[in-house]
Amino acid sequence: MIQIPKGCKDVLPSQVYAWHKVEDTARAVAEAYAFREIRTPVFEHTELFSRGVGDTTDIVNKEMYTFLDKGGRSVTLRPEGTAGVARAFLEHGLAGGVLPFKAYYLISAFRYERPQAGRLREFHQFGCELYGAAGAAADAEVISLADAFLRRLGLREVALRINSIGCKTCRARYHEALKNYFAPHIGVMCADCRSRFEKNPMRIIDCKEEGCKAIAAGAPRMLDYLCNDCRAHFEEVKRLLSEAGVSYAVDPSIVRGLDYYSRTVFEFVSAAAGAQGTVLGGGRYDTLLEQVGGKSVPAVGFAAGMERLLMVMEAENCLPPADMGAACYLAGMDAPSREKAFLLAGELRRQGISCEVDLMERSVKSQFKYADKTGAKFVAVLGERELEEGAAEVKDMRNSSSERVKFEELAKYIQRRM
Ligand code: ATP
Ligand code: MG
Repeated sequence: MIQIPKGCKDVLPSQVYAWHKVEDTARAVAEAYAFREIRTPVFEHTELFSRGVGDTTDIVNKEMYTFLDKGGRSVTLRPEGTAGVARAFLEHGLAGGVLPFKAYYLISAFRYERPQAGRLREFHQFGCELYGAAGAAADAEVISLADAFLRRLGLREVALRINSIGCKTCRARYHEALKNYFAPHIGVMCADCRSRFEKNPMRIIDCKEEGCKAIAAGAPRMLDYLCNDCRAHFEEVKRLLSEAGVSYAVDPSIVRGLDYYSRTVFEFVSAAAGAQGTVLGGGRYDTLLEQVGGKSVPAVGFAAGMERLLMVMEAENCLPPADMGAACYLAGMDAPSREKAFLLAGELRRQGISCEVDLMERSVKSQFKYADKTGAKFVAVLGERELEEGAAEVKDMRNSSSERVKFEELAKYIQRRM
């Protein structure tokens, strides 16, 4: 038997309700902040990601699904959403349009990772992008959107951690300090960290290896190296968050896995998700648009992992119950009643009532069993007598009471009781 590729997951009809809740909430909250949806291709030219995401990141180094298409061009399945949005923003000349540009996306993303709980090869993200605003208000806006989204999902044990990783100027001094700190230890650190040490020592702080983590715990903190402008920006972000009632903790160990961040970085972390506890991460990336090939436009945004969110929602008991049942099941006792049920169902559906009829040529008893199993709210039974009377015997499956209801009143009857 052919099986699903490693690291991928099917979402079955019985599970999709939880996804709908997350997606609907994402849309509702993003739209409340007047962010509009953007859709970009699932694959892009590989160069977009190597330039945009950064070629010292795990994503670009190890995790990309890259292949040559039939024309010999190197293309890559998107490993994240930001680079594509940045490309579209520049390509459509939106930098010269109305700013700030505010967009959200709900996408699948692809990374060649070692599959484990909360780490898939095809996964899904909800993300927001805000381009054109350099001030701390934009950071606070995006973080408060993320916070509102998680709260609206009902999550209570997801905590916001923020940090500032400064700008090019102050980070240069910090990199020196880090190199001095790590130099005597680097020999015993992992291969990734040894290469980070050369290319981007700050990323060592993001290493998940226990040994490296222990060494990194004593490393100098970026917060002690911020220049005056970066410090003022960070203070203002924190002040606005406090004013807005968004609780946070400053965590100097947050540096984020992507190269393009500057100044504010943040993560929402859940204790319930185990090792893969980061459900949402983001920050400011003022150099990204320039790197992708445009002019310099300040940017801030985040991405949330949908599968991890769902894991945390399950752990915190805020998944909605599966609801597979139709509002009304129309059971027919004989051939003419079945036909009437079929026609009536069409009528009800046009009025927005979900209903089902027998498609398996089952007996009435079995039809009832099916309606019960699937969780239908009402069963309308039709037989010879009902057809003569022009009324169905409608059973409310929740309390087993039943009533005669005229065919033409059936829709109203059900709508009123749903
Ligand atoms: P991690 O440190 O866990 O690898 P990351 O820094 O690679 O995360 P981002 O690129 O910031 O993650 O992606 C944003 C969010 O997308 C993550 O916080 C996580 O919830 C989710 N995510 C990232 N990679 C995966 C994956 N392979 N499977 C499922 N969800 C993922
Ligand atoms: Mg990762």
